[in-house]
Formats: sequence, C-alpha cells, structure tokens
Amino acid sequence: MNDLVAAYKEVRSSTAYLSLGCNLGDCAANLAAAVNKLNEEPDIEVTRVSSVYVTEPVSNLRQPDFLNIAAGLKTTLQPFDLLHACQRIERELGGREGRVPLGPRTIDLDILLYEQVEISHKELELPHPRLLERAFMLAPLAEIAPEAVLPGGGSVGDALAALSDQSRVEKKGPLPL
Ligand code: ADP
Ligand code: MG
Repeated sequence: MNDLVAAYKEVRSSTAYLSLGCNLGDCAANLAAAVNKLNEEPDIEVTRVSSVYVTEPVSNLRQPDFLNIAAGLKTTLQPFDLLHACQRIERELGGREGRVPLGPRTIDLDILLYEQVEISHKELELPHPRLLERAFMLAPLAEIAPEAVLPGGGSVGDALAALSDQSRVEKKGPLPL
C-alpha cells in the first residue's frame, strides 16, 4: 500500500525551486532547520540543496550580510499551498511579524519557480518577480538546476550568464544539515 501511495505521489508531484535567506541569528542553523522542516512536510521532498552563499544586502539599510541557498523540491502541494507551508515554517523559525521590507530576517523562504507556472497575484507571483535581477537568487539556483527552463523559454544557466547584478555573491561550502 505504501508503494502505491509513493507511486501516486510521484506521478502527481511537481518540481519547484525555493530561495532561502537569513541575516539574523545563527544563519547556518536557521537555513538547515528550514530545509529539514521542508523535508519533514508530508507533501514535500527536498531533492537538491545548493552550497551556502554569503551575499551583500540589496537595500541601503545598514545590516549584516546574508546567507543564501536554493533548494529543489518535489511536491504534491499546489503553488498557494506551498507558499503557505513556507510561511508557516518562517513563523515557526522566528516570525514574520514586524519585519521591514528588505530588512534583517531570521529566515525568508521565497518560491522562485514552480514548474512552468506563471501567476500574477498580490500574494504570489511566479516566477519570483526579482529572480532575473538578483544574483543572490540566481547563482544558488544555477548551481543546482542550470537546465531548469523558465516560463517563456531560456534556462536558468542562460539567465545567470545574462545577469547584470554586480552585487557580491560568494560561494562557500555545503550547508551542515
Ligand atoms: P521579501 O520580499 O523580502 O521576501 P516577504 O517574505 O515578507 O518579503 O514577502 C512579502 C510578500 O511577498 C509575501 O507576503 C508574499 O505573499 C509575497 N510573494 C509574492 N510572490 C512570492 C513568491 N514567489 N514567494 C514568496 N512570497 C511571495
Ligand atoms: Mg519572502
């Protein structure tokens, strides 16, 4: 029976990619906890995790550098349900409340891509509206899925090659999970 459930999930599952970021507290631990929580979700399997990247904040607010990773998922959740699962994990790991846009945070989970889905909604935009402009999102994603195709054509690897963002994105080692 479990084999049947597994086979059904495999057929019904979609591939999605997330960007995870942190610049408050023990960021390696926060990122690892977020990846583990994602993987513990019954409807999510984490299939790929990038190296950790040290990245410079994009806003002018004075704040520490970020640690960023990308993660590849197989999921049977639909896009909005995946967003809500990500937001629940953010709350469990230190809260979304009182957060300043582009300001410091203990953990941020953004959906970069969900298959070839395009959504333009105030709660969810897919692909992530800033994916093609931000090295801290695109560089980790290109490490784990250079061949992934963006809606409208073109691969993630091509998008990284075309990127003009000059902000500092330094590849470090693997995340201790
Ligand atoms: P940030 O823009 O720094 O990620 P938040 O995590 O607080 O800030 O996100 C702000 C809002 O962005 C969320 O309330 C969410 O509904 C919305 N949003 C739109 N598209 C996405 C996406 N692809 N992934 C995650 N959140 C998204
Ligand atoms: Mg976010």
